[in-house]
Amino acid sequence: MDDPVTAALEELHGRLAVLRDGEVAAYIPQLALADPDAFGLALCSMAGHRYQAGEADLPFTIQSVSKPFVYALAVGDLGPQEMLRRVGAEPSGDSFNAVSLEPGTGRPANPMVNAGAIATTALVRAESPAERFGRILRVLSAFAGRELDVDEDVYASEARTGDRNRALAYLMRSAGSLDGDPDEAVDVYFRQCAVRVTAADLAVMAATLAGGGRNPVSGEQVVAEPDAVRTLAIMATCGMYDGAGQWLLDVGLPAKSGVAGGLIACSPGRFGVAVYSPPLNQAGNPVRGVAALTEMSARFGLHLMHKS
Ligand code: GLU
Repeated sequence: MDDPVTAALEELHGRLAVLRDGEVAAYIPQLALADPDAFGLALCSMAGHRYQAGEADLPFTIQSVSKPFVYALAVGDLGPQEMLRRVGAEPSGDSFNAVSLEPGTGRPANPMVNAGAIATTALVRAESPAERFGRILRVLSAFAGRELDVDEDVYASEARTGDRNRALAYLMRSAGSLDGDPDEAVDVYFRQCAVRVTAADLAVMAATLAGGGRNPVSGEQVVAEPDAVRTLAIMATCGMYDGAGQWLLDVGLPAKSGVAGGLIACSPGRFGVAVYSPPLNQAGNPVRGVAALTEMSARFGLHLMHKS
């Protein structure tokens, strides 16, 4: 007999697996090869208990779900004031890859859109791009509680086709919001996006943010608590692309999605949840992931604006 959490995940998985809406992202050619039926759910509690249903051990690339974790690392390096001077904290209302910067300051709007994420990645302290990526891979691994690696095919596929992100990096250099070589900055960002995870990993990573930066499975304090709190706040307003407002209404949890089909949501002080399902809705968020979290939030009273 399953425990009640696994039973709830399995029941949701069974019911939502039949959803057929959405499109698998194809603008990075390698991502178009994903199986649209793959569907995994995972949850990790503050006590480090792990639960899962479906294909929660299937690897895929983290893509934009990396952004909050790298932001937490960069805030730790720079401090909150300097970080805010370099990258804003306002929802942009634009698409994730919009070629736009904040008028006046030339800052990217927030660290969850591509411009802000490329700038954030470039701010991680290091002597060289290789050392910077090494630090990023180590921190992502510490969030997951195991050693992660890079999907070289996805990395190469994005490096070949990622001209829009290159354009963003050059735009930021001309606006004074990116120091150093734009091609090197984008290369580290592409590698970061190609880090391979599973839904089970992402649930532990989300639980680490939800628990003030302490990994509940390994016990390691991965980032400082105030940095985890700032990250959750930015996820709440900017984490779900241009579907962030609707998400906060319906689900009411800090969250982040990625174009490969990953999605995390954090219930602060309670648990982290993750979903893997490649077909995306119009706003770029995984259809089954949005449906699963909307149901979980309503059923278990997870909405942060709820009085209890
Ligand atoms: N590597 C992807 C890009 O920059 C990440 C986008 C995403 O997951 O939103 O286009």
